[in-house]
Parts: sequence; structure tokens; C-alpha cells
Amino acid sequence: AETVLITQQSHEELRKVIDANKTAAPGQQRLVVVSVSPQSRASLAAQFGLNPTDTARKLTAFFKKIGVHYVFDTSFSRNFSLLESQREFVQRFRGQADSQQALPVLASACPGWICYAEKTHGSFLIPYLSTVRSPQQVMGSLVKDFFAQQQHLTPDRIYHVTVMPCYDKKLEASRPDFFSQDYQTRDVDCVVTTGEVFKLLEEEGVSLSELEPAPLDSLQVRVRPVAGLSAHRGGQVHDLANGQCTDGHQSCPKLDTRLSSPNRCSSVSAQEPSSHRGGGSGGYLEHVFQHAARELFGIHVDEITYRPLRNKDFQEVTLEKEGQIVLHFAAAYGFRNIQNLVQKLKRGRCPYHYVEVMACPAGCLNGGGQLKAPSTPGKELLQRVETLYSMVRTEAPEDAPGIQELYRCWLQGEGSERAGRLLHTSYHAVEKASSSLGIRW
Ligand code: SF4
Repeated sequence: AETVLITQQSHEELRKVIDANKTAAPGQQRLVVVSVSPQSRASLAAQFGLNPTDTARKLTAFFKKIGVHYVFDTSFSRNFSLLESQREFVQRFRGQADSQQALPVLASACPGWICYAEKTHGSFLIPYLSTVRSPQQVMGSLVKDFFAQQQHLTPDRIYHVTVMPCYDKKLEASRPDFFSQDYQTRDVDCVVTTGEVFKLLEEEGVSLSELEPAPLDSLQVRVRPVAGLSAHRGGQVHDLANGQCTDGHQSCPKLDTRLSSPNRCSSVSAQEPSSHRGGGSGGYLEHVFQHAARELFGIHVDEITYRPLRNKDFQEVTLEKEGQIVLHFAAAYGFRNIQNLVQKLKRGRCPYHYVEVMACPAGCLNGGGQLKAPSTPGKELLQRVETLYSMVRTEAPEDAPGIQELYRCWLQGEGSERAGRLLHTSYHAVEKASSSLGIRW
């Protein structure tokens, strides 16, 4: 099954869809959307000696040249993953969450770790796992739900590809939880690794550095549907009869008009690539820690100080108030550290409230799908990729343009049933252990 998965999710598959579009009858084409991860962008930047902004623009130019219609940045969807993680942690800490959900919250953005947790430890770890979708899968919701509505397309008419630093993201995209029975389509149809994008460039005879940069694409929030347009909702066709976008756009999404205020459009994905403070695996620990310190204890934490434990891939952060440790977080990267963490949990000796767990030593910038340079020592290359990753402008997820509008208009408010369905997921214990793709344990 895993071999089938690799052939179904490869750059060759992307090429087949693009080729099929060229000969398809009018109206039968699929809209091809590519979402690029910031880790892949940094790896390609290192390979071609470019800065991250130029890399993002040139990559957009390349994908458009071969027949892709839209190119987005998964840093945008990560805003939702971080905000939902913050909210979830505070709720669990206060004991407001489902009684089945326990502390410590274990981050869930790494499918290598999730696969291990489900397959190796049965149902033991599931109550601890954060239910927040990874940036890849939030992007899946954005593209196949929000963007499909904007384009007046059903989700199966969009072919959504992500560019990721690891092979395990292919497994994540193929989880049944991210498959729409109504439309027989996945939120993410195909995952290509950074290395596979490099192969695609080679096969097309293109050097990224020589391409003319193209502007980055952005999603648009249009808060009111234009009168008279029709669109699909829940598999049925509805007329959108009321409201009008004052910016005069010709198309609008089927958004809930009760939430339409103010009555205008706004761009929600920055024209410059952006990122978040924190490490190359997304900065979950930093964001959740700083938010929890402020929200739960009224303490502003400007700078996070890590204390290494067993090694540089197992570190902790604490917050003290009146001489007591009130928050105790850790980052555990790589299999050995994960095993150690699980043993602590099983013995009832895990002191942490939150752990950012990642399967790869050094995290996603060092993922198995990233580019390797035979002439450059691995450590030196990783340092270069880390530097390029952190060169991009960072912004707080709550301040990112369009996020608040999308919560209001698309998700029907923070903490709504719709936000729960589109931004969260669930896990399933697998009794028999088996290995996962690309995990290097
Ligand atoms: Fe993939 Fe490794 Fe990142 Fe996990 S830590 S998401 S396996 S690159």
C-alpha cells in the first residue's frame, strides 16, 4: 500500500494531471494549486544560492510555466495551526477541554511521530495528542473548502499539491480523516518532496536562479456574495441572492451572509513570504508558551531560554511565578528522545505541560525529503538552511492579514463547530505495529 502511495503522490503524478489538462475538453480541466512549505523554500534557496523571497517568486514562476494555476505559501495556513494550538493548550490547562484529553499536550504537526504513536503505543498516547491539524492539512481545508467556494468549483475540480520537507507528509495527506466522501477527493491530492521539486526542475531543464521572478499568489476574503451568483453548498446548488461586495469583484465565495461585516474584500496571504518566530519545525513551543504565560499568568515573555537536557534535541523551557514553576514545556526531536519521553509518560513521571515532538533530529529543516549536497557536510548545509529559513520576515499569527476575517467569515467564529471540523482532526490506535515511510528510526 505504501508503494502505491508513493507512485500516486509524486512529481510524475503532478505532471500527468498538468498534461491531462492540456487535452481536456473545455470545462473538464482541474484547477491545479501548489502550496509550498517554508522549509522546502529554504532548502531550495540554499541549493541555488538565492534568498528566500527570490526563491518563492522564482518557484512561483516555474510552477506557472509548467501549467500550475495558483501557488500559495503554507506559512499562511500555519497561522491557524498556531492559534488553534494556543487555544487548545489554555483550555486543557484550565481543565475546560473534553475530559478524555490530558496533559501534557503533545504537538501533532509531525506525521512521522503521529504514525509511531498510533501504531506502536495503541491508544495510550492518543488522549495527549493535540487535535490541531498540521499546516499542510489546514491548507487542505483552505484550498478545498474556502478557495473552492471562491472559484465556484466543487472540491474535486481542484488538484491540490503540497511541497514538503518529508515523505511522511504523503502518509498524512492520505489519512481517511482528510478525505471527502461527498466529493470523493482528498484535501491534499499529492505531496511532493523538496527533492522531487528539484528533480522536476532538472527534468524540465530549468535552473531556478535563471528564471524571472513572478508575484506570489494570495487568497482573497470577499465577505459578501454577489447577487445572483450560484454556488455549491454541501453538494447542492444554492443561489446567493443577497449582499454585494463593495470592491466590485466579479466572483465571490458562498460565505454565510449573517457574518458579512464589514462589507468589503481583503487580501489574506502576504505578497512577501512570511514566517513565524521559533525553530524550523514551526515554532509551536514558542507560540504556545508565550501565549499561555500571558493568558494564564499575565506574564509577557519576550525571549525564550531553552535548557538542554540529554542533548541538543531534548530541551526544556520553564516559567516561574513566586518561586514556583508554573509552566514546564519541552521539545523532543528524534526517535531516541521520543522514546525517552514516552517512557516518562508511562511511568507517570513526565513533568511537562506541553511537548513539541518531531521525528527528525533537528526537526523539519532536516527532513528526509530535503535536498542533500554531496559536496557540503550535512551540518554545514543544515546551518545554511536554518539561516535562510530565519531570514524571512516574521509575524504573530493573530496579526497576519486576513486571519481574523477568515475566522469570522469562513469559519463562523473562533471555537465554532465549523472551525473544529476544518482545523482539527482525530487519531486512531492501530494494534499491530508496522513501519512508516521515511521515518529514520
Ligand atoms: Fe516530517 Fe521530519 Fe518534520 Fe516530522 S520532523 S514533519 S518527519 S520533516
